[in-house]
Amino acid sequence: MSVIKKPQRRFFLVTGMAFLLIGTVMLWLTSRVMYHRGIEDLSSQGTVKLELFVTYLQGVLKTYQSLPELLAIDDNLVNALLNPREDQRINKLNRYLETINAISDTADTYLMDKEGLTIAASNWQEEHPFVGRNFSYRPYFLEAMKGQLGRYFALGTTSSKRGYYFAYPVRRAGEILGVVVIKVNIDSVEQSWGERGDNFLVTDPDGVVFITTEPDWRYQTLHPLEETVRKQIIESRRYPNASLAVLTDTRQDLEGNRQIVHLHDQNNPVGRNHLLLTRNMPEAGWSVHILTDIQTVKKRVWWVNIMVGASLLLTFLLVLLLKQRQYRLAELTLIREKTRRTLQRANEKLELRVKERTRELTAINKLLRREIQDRQRTEETLRKTRNELIHAAKMAVLGQMSAGINHELNQPLAAIRSYTDNGKEFLKKGRHEEALWNLEQIAELTERMAQIGVQLKLFSRKTSGQMTVVPLHGVIDGALEILKPSIRKRGVQVNVRLVPENIEVKANNLLLQQVLINLISNAIQAAEPSDLKIVHVTAELNGNAVLIRVMDSGPGITAEDLPHIFEPFFTTKKSGQGLGLGLTISERILQEMRGSIRVIPQAKGQGACFEISLEKA
Ligand code: ADP
Repeated sequence: MSVIKKPQRRFFLVTGMAFLLIGTVMLWLTSRVMYHRGIEDLSSQGTVKLELFVTYLQGVLKTYQSLPELLAIDDNLVNALLNPREDQRINKLNRYLETINAISDTADTYLMDKEGLTIAASNWQEEHPFVGRNFSYRPYFLEAMKGQLGRYFALGTTSSKRGYYFAYPVRRAGEILGVVVIKVNIDSVEQSWGERGDNFLVTDPDGVVFITTEPDWRYQTLHPLEETVRKQIIESRRYPNASLAVLTDTRQDLEGNRQIVHLHDQNNPVGRNHLLLTRNMPEAGWSVHILTDIQTVKKRVWWVNIMVGASLLLTFLLVLLLKQRQYRLAELTLIREKTRRTLQRANEKLELRVKERTRELTAINKLLRREIQDRQRTEETLRKTRNELIHAAKMAVLGQMSAGINHELNQPLAAIRSYTDNGKEFLKKGRHEEALWNLEQIAELTERMAQIGVQLKLFSRKTSGQMTVVPLHGVIDGALEILKPSIRKRGVQVNVRLVPENIEVKANNLLLQQVLINLISNAIQAAEPSDLKIVHVTAELNGNAVLIRVMDSGPGITAEDLPHIFEPFFTTKKSGQGLGLGLTISERILQEMRGSIRVIPQAKGQGACFEISLEKA
């Protein structure tokens, strides 16, 4: 992953801070709302339960509160008070009270005289009977003695059992003779309500818990007591041996008799916050409470907080991811754009270079073409110049030649004149044989003169003839036919051997014949003085070429002459026998027919050997 860049980092930081701020505010708000709603829910549920509990308590009290009033009008009680020392009567009353106590399901029922001494009691047969005991200090007695219903909650001093006391004055003719008391057992209240899982408390006006579904909290106080109050409680022996420890600390007062309190007891010294709902019961002088652990609310708040926090974190991460993606995309686009631009630049550069190269190449090409044209022109000029030069050379030598020709022709002409004169003389004298011989000499001389003409004509030619497929046999035969008189005259034997017989070449028939005539003619001339007088004409195939050889039994060519024999006008022959043009012309003709001619070196005294090479047809 690429390193996070500065603007991205700043964005992440700002977004993070914003999310943190929003998150904190949101969490705080949701916490508050959820907490309040939770407390409200708990309150409404608690209120309903509390009402039910209060109704139940009121029911219990109502059931018993009229009982002492009823008993007070009983004659048995009045008579007993009037005659407290009549044992029989008292015994009877004891039994009577026991019966009443059993029927009304009260804890104790007893009768006190106006001094507070108990004269008869339902528990007269039990281990600690009330009979003979004085309870004048009890507030319910004092209240009843004032002529009204006395109510009181206390721990029984004799039984050590908690009870709610109802006391009513027993009167006769308006005079209060004593007080009848019933004690209601409230253990059953705790048992029946303790099973529901709610913490109900009932406190007396001093705030001491005397009914509770949690037995450990009994005789503890909801709030710290003032020292005087504490002393008073101890003195009244209302709750003997009670610890009067403080059970709760108030954390927050809510409207409508609600408080958030911190509850701590022996089981849970650290304590936890609870919702305390209070409802006063003025008729009994009590306050009834329900304590509900607000842990569930806190838990719910925590859960909601976790969910809100997680959602916020998720949203934050999502935003980060999206932003990161956006940055990456922007980066990618940038890179792509950069790459595209670089590529474009490279492409442009390349195109420019290609153009430059093309321009250079075109220029070079043009130059080359021009050079080629120049060369062609030069070649053309050269060829023309060469041809012209040759022609000029020919013209130049024409003068030289004409002297030679003059000499060549003058000699036979002079000879013909003298032979003619001689022939005339011999005819006049009738000597026909001699005259014929002279004529033959004349004919021979004219033939030689004609030969000179032919050679000159060949030399002055500029172009070659048409190339065709030429059967070699025919060309050689033609040449030999032309040379026949010369061969016969010189007594030379000519051997022809072609392998294969029907060998064919690409050449111009006439020109090739001229070349062969020239070579064979030279060979005959060379062979004449020798003893053998033999000329060999051979032809054979050599790959794509045909090699034609003309060999003779003459003296051969000296090493001195050899480099010059193809030069024009080079001749070793006597004047009138050769112009020195035969081999020159032959070489040129063969070159034009894409052929060649060379001298094959021979051992001394072996004669000369010329080899022509031509394309096979
Ligand atoms: P020409 O026959 O008129 O002299 P060529 O060009 O035919 O002219 O020959 C040039 C020279 O080459 C001859 O003068 C001769 O010296 C030499 N030559 C040609 N053919 C032969 C041959 N068969 N044997 C010896 N010398 C030869």
